[in-house]
Formats: sequence, C-alpha cells, structure tokens
Amino acid sequence: MFIYMLMIKRDSTNLLKKSNLKVTPQRSAILEVIQNEGHIDIERLVEKVKGIIPSISVATIYKNLNSLIESNIVSELPLPGRKKMYEITHNKHIHFVCKNCNSLEDIEVDSLEFVKIFQSKFAPNIDDFDVTLYGICKKCQNK
Ligand SMILES: [Zn+2]
Ligand SMILES: [Zn+2]
Repeated sequence: MFIYMLMIKRDSTNLLKKSNLKVTPQRSAILEVIQNEGHIDIERLVEKVKGIIPSISVATIYKNLNSLIESNIVSELPLPGRKKMYEITHNKHIHFVCKNCNSLEDIEVDSLEFVKIFQSKFAPNIDDFDVTLYGICKKCQNK
C-alpha cells in the first residue's frame, strides 16, 4: 500500500528560517493559520489573520502570502472549478474533494511508485502529476 494520510505540524519559524525569510509576526500569523486549516482560500485566510493581527491590511497579507509562495513555503493549489486554495508546501500529494461538504483532504502517495504506474500503462515520459479525486468523505458517509 503506497497511500497513506499524513498530518504533520510544521514549525513556522523553522520554515521561514530555512528559506532565509525574515521571521515577522505577519508571516508567522499567515503560516499559523494555513497550518491550522490545512487548506484555505484567500477570504478565510484574511479573516483568520485579522483575528490574530487586527491592524494588518489586506495588501500586507497578499504581499506576505506572495513572498511565502515565491519561497515555496506555501503552495497555491490549482483545483478545477474551485476557488484557489493555499497550503503549506509538503511532499507531493494528491487531493480528495468531498462532493457533499466540499472538504479537501491530502492523500500522500509514494510519488515514484505513483508515476511508475502511469509510465508503464500510458506514457513513459510522465514525470509529474497533479491529481484531484472526488467522492464522499468518511464524515459525510457516516451521517
Ligand atoms: Zn464530506
Ligand atoms: Zn494538499
């Protein structure tokens, strides 16, 4: 079995230091919020960060978010038909979207294994993937 779920808390200060970004309260707050939410859209991010630093402007949030994306600490998720979501960059993974509650889960896969399956079946030159699965999540199923 090469698929497993993963939830790891990452230290926002370490993330910033590793990327040589200055540790500021604004950046720490943004990372903290994204970390807690797992995946978040911009409206919710702004709302939550303002909850931590009420005086912060939307422009400052955008500016800091962009520098976090440029440093690859935060990833922007291309999810067809949905608002752009943000998450802390971690191992290559696939997403599962619940068609009922719209929740978004990470499913970690062994990237090499995963690519190999498609290489042998379809195209030997595949070297990357971007996969979103859709269905009904466990919570909704058990309701
Ligand atoms: Zn659901
Ligand atoms: Zn994810």
